[in-house]
Amino acid sequence: MLVLVVNAGSSSLKYQLINMDDESVLAKGNCDRIGIDGHLSHKTADGRKLDTDCTFPTHTEAFEKLVEALTTGEYSVIKSMDEISAVGHRIVQGAEVFDRPCLVTPEIIDQIDGLAELAPVHNHAHALALRACTKVIPATTPQVVVFDTAFHQTMPPKAYMFGLPYEDYEKYHVRKYGFHGTSHRFVSAALAEAMGKNIEDLKIVSCHLGNGSSITAVKGGKCIDTSMGFTPLDGVLMGTRCGAVDPSAVTFVASKHGFTPDEMSQYMNKQSGFLGVSGVSSDNRDINDAAEKGNARAQLASDMLAYEIQKYIGSYTAAMDGIDALLFTGGIGENSWEVRERVCQNMSYFGIEIDDELNHSTRGQLMKLSTPNSKVEVWIVPTNEELLIARDTIALISK
Ligand code: AMP
Repeated sequence: MLVLVVNAGSSSLKYQLINMDDESVLAKGNCDRIGIDGHLSHKTADGRKLDTDCTFPTHTEAFEKLVEALTTGEYSVIKSMDEISAVGHRIVQGAEVFDRPCLVTPEIIDQIDGLAELAPVHNHAHALALRACTKVIPATTPQVVVFDTAFHQTMPPKAYMFGLPYEDYEKYHVRKYGFHGTSHRFVSAALAEAMGKNIEDLKIVSCHLGNGSSITAVKGGKCIDTSMGFTPLDGVLMGTRCGAVDPSAVTFVASKHGFTPDEMSQYMNKQSGFLGVSGVSSDNRDINDAAEKGNARAQLASDMLAYEIQKYIGSYTAAMDGIDALLFTGGIGENSWEVRERVCQNMSYFGIEIDDELNHSTRGQLMKLSTPNSKVEVWIVPTNEELLIARDTIALISK
């Protein structure tokens, strides 16, 4: 069974074609610069690579090109789109409307589009991509949507409500939704399996650290709290996002700069975080390099991230009344021994102790980093959101 997994943004359309018989990726790529000019990068499992400029006025042309790359010419991996059993789409915001994956219908697409106010950058783009996909793939191919927010829908109201007047929740749906849910769900389940334990018996702090980062408390396989909030801006310091800031500092800075709400939002989303604090880069590797060379602000940015993560571990351990395992995932979590080392330092009260050598030498693979003495197991668990979307897609269409 083949599943095409699609992750659409406003100007990009990333895809993976997965063979669910052995969960191998047959081809993957990205249709980039949609609405600007257009570029396709496409790679097959056996190493054939296509990099070409295209014309992508809309997501429809991008889908057409994607279909062409998969089915015709020297970079193809299938003969026809009829060979694909289903398409699974990643959707960022499902709000309180969607707490599980569902089959795509025109009404569902409208509902996703209707939530765009809560995720302006993402949901409208998802709706455009869904409509484009519906035009391009065979009408008989089912499509499934999998929501980033769905895993977090198990949070209790005391965790997801803000201290704003209740009417803002009722009228405008202002609350914590949480993001990266598909990743946290995938890695927490993979961790339980690696530990040989039933996930229902585990209290896990899951750290997804990448350009965007979020920490989630997973108790008995369910999210009980998470660091991202109403939008993916909340929580820890990120590449270009500020993370949690005193709301009064936000209104104060906006008035000092004369920013409109949209401009202030841009400032916090695009010019803050690692980039804003360090003045060096939004990329963790650049931050580590600069810090090593003695750049004090890069060191500060790095220290801030580790300190904030430590505080989340502490607060989520309190929220779960314990912690069995701590896991790292995402580009930083899987690859940066520096960040993992700083997070696990001075955590002896929690009984967290990692093997430094193993931590230094491990990148991007499933690995237990904690020592036998550690009271908490510490793991690297590579994430694979596309695979979970493909699994969810198959599970739903098989029903
Ligand atoms: P993601 O958004 O999950 O793709 O993660 C991107 C982040 O991972 C960037 O900040 C990268 O600098 C960071 N990253 C990727 N590889 C490494 C590495 N080998 N060492 C440190 N950070 C890394």
